Amino acid sequence: MEAREKTIEIGSLHCPTCARQLEGRMAAVEGVERAQVDPLAGKLYLAYDPARIAPEELERAVSAISGHIAHPEGEEKRREGFLTLAAGVLLAAGGLTFLLGDLPIGPTALSTVLFGLGALLGGLPVARRALSELRRRLLGIDLLVAIAITGALALEETFEAVSLAFLFGVAEWLEDRAAGRARRSLRELLDRVPKRATVLREGRELELPVEAISPGEVILVRPGETVGLDGVVIRGRASVSEAAITGEATPVLKEEGSPVYAGTLNEDGALEIRVTRPVGDSTLARIAQLVEEARQHKAPTERLVDRFARYYTPAVVGTAVLVAALPPLLGLPPREWVLRALTLLVIACPCALAISTPAAMVSALVASARRAILVKGGAALEAVAKVRYLALDKTGTLTTGELSARPVPLDGASPEELIRIAAALERGSEHPIARAIGRLAEGLSLPRVESFQALPGRGVRGVIQGQEYLVGRPELFSPLPKGVEELLSDGTSLVLVGRPDRPLGAILLSDRLRPEAREAISRLVELGVKPVLLTGDRAAPAHAVAEALGIEEVHAELLPEQKVEWVRTLKARGGVAMLGDGVNDAPALAAADVGIAMGKIGTDVAIEAGDVALMRDDLSGVPELVSLGRRSLAVIRGNVAVALALKLLVAALAFAGYTSLVLAVLVGDVGATLVVTGNAMRLQRPERIARRNT
Ligand code: ADP
Ligand code: MG
Repeated sequence: MEAREKTIEIGSLHCPTCARQLEGRMAAVEGVERAQVDPLAGKLYLAYDPARIAPEELERAVSAISGHIAHPEGEEKRREGFLTLAAGVLLAAGGLTFLLGDLPIGPTALSTVLFGLGALLGGLPVARRALSELRRRLLGIDLLVAIAITGALALEETFEAVSLAFLFGVAEWLEDRAAGRARRSLRELLDRVPKRATVLREGRELELPVEAISPGEVILVRPGETVGLDGVVIRGRASVSEAAITGEATPVLKEEGSPVYAGTLNEDGALEIRVTRPVGDSTLARIAQLVEEARQHKAPTERLVDRFARYYTPAVVGTAVLVAALPPLLGLPPREWVLRALTLLVIACPCALAISTPAAMVSALVASARRAILVKGGAALEAVAKVRYLALDKTGTLTTGELSARPVPLDGASPEELIRIAAALERGSEHPIARAIGRLAEGLSLPRVESFQALPGRGVRGVIQGQEYLVGRPELFSPLPKGVEELLSDGTSLVLVGRPDRPLGAILLSDRLRPEAREAISRLVELGVKPVLLTGDRAAPAHAVAEALGIEEVHAELLPEQKVEWVRTLKARGGVAMLGDGVNDAPALAAADVGIAMGKIGTDVAIEAGDVALMRDDLSGVPELVSLGRRSLAVIRGNVAVALALKLLVAALAFAGYTSLVLAVLVGDVGATLVVTGNAMRLQRPERIARRNT
């Protein structure tokens, strides 16, 4: 039975352990195959078997379980913020009276009252959530903190109690803000699309919400306006800035027949555009959707943190119980040891640890999407960081793929006949060679082709007037006539055209290197990534390209399956990324640790194929991607290390009796959360991304 997927909005979850618990309980529901919470997006992803559970039942199960786990939104949050603030004010007031002294009712008594009141107010939200956790039999952070506050009050440590309530509230607020910011930066991608557009209906201009406009209709986009829907220009000329999608600042000239994309900016002329896609399906919408889905594909480090958090809390709780109970049994002062145990409980809050990895991942994914590099998940990003080899396809990847073609007839055939047959066969192919031959044949009438067949990485085959014809590699033909030998020894790229046993002639092909290729390759080499050229083309042109670009390792005349073999061979030596255009190299893209697909925006192959899509048709994205991946991995590792180190430090001090509840929450939570989220946000700062040298 085919599993189906569903995403349910659950609002922001309070604690990481709650997220794990919600996942566990949903996975236990009959018919649910996989449950995964994205605490930053506030979403639950479910894979389920529709034969065993209906989607409505899923929603009901989720709200039954998560109703009490989910963090209250809006109004509730403001009230909690207010209570935290009140606790802070009372903490300050109590501290002041304590220092001022000399008051009629005695400074200690008054400050104790103020502290106590503050602890009660600030502890209220914690207690409320702890109670609902208890009712659900969950072991959450709130329960731990509530026990700690109650314990401190019971021991008349009011200063500790109010500080704990206040600082825990502050840590919460910080975490919410970080999550909110990540969520917003995802939405910002889509906010570039205007809400309304001008549509032409029966000769009249109507301004309508973009959702109300369907494919086939014509919209009018004036100078200075942002395009509302994907479409094709049917009238007008304008420079359009596609920076929103490609990250490329230079505007592109759009005229009749040019594709235009939602979210791009019309700088000067007026354009009439025939809509090709509904707004929800626009290129930009799909990019945003892929970035959002990318969150589901967790990085290995992220999964490790998840697993760790699951054992972490119970382990610390167990230790706390031992710390409180054992020493008093041995005759040590109970009060002091109970306090130490309470400190340990506070330390058990893995807030900063839990937010450390996802915050960095989202930050990196959004940062790359802004540069038109679409990374489909944390796993891909982490793999990119570990890449040692970059396998490269030649045609369309290192070269522009805009080949120029020249017919060379043999055996007395006419150039026209050669072109007509080749172009007729190539009509069914998307290969750059096919497009070049198609351009040669403009204006010619082409014969009908039956039983067309693409031979991936070799050529095309078809039947014309009862005769089998081929276009493709010389190996497809035998015997080879004498003229061909000479052409082959010349070392240019070529394909032969004709019957399998009698070629009519050759078509010579020449291609241009992408202007940025040389620099992109040398940047990669600087980054310690070794480029390896894997091409289906002949050895001579392959080596010429490699030499021009400074690529040392070249393997030519490969079939698509041999490219896969080479990727596997490289993999045995280290992490491998494969960069290709998606034509004939999809299997190699899939075989690599990271498949990077290269292509112009709007081509579905580019968006769909591979783990990473370079949407701006520019090789300089590859070194940028590698350095972003490495920086992200460094930030993640740094974050986990900081969060853990601070926790361990506080725990060690607590165990030695040198610390207080205040220090535990101040350093272990507030401090760590600040460091960790600040560190993650650094990834989004554009100037820190490796750029081309200028
Ligand atoms: P590359 O590795 O350069 O991208 P491919 O694997 O796509 O090359 O193709 C390898 C070779 O197969 C080409 O150089 C060409 O000789 C032949 N070939 C592939 N597709 C076609 C086609 N549609 N028409 C003619 N020849 C083709
Ligand atoms: Mg190719």
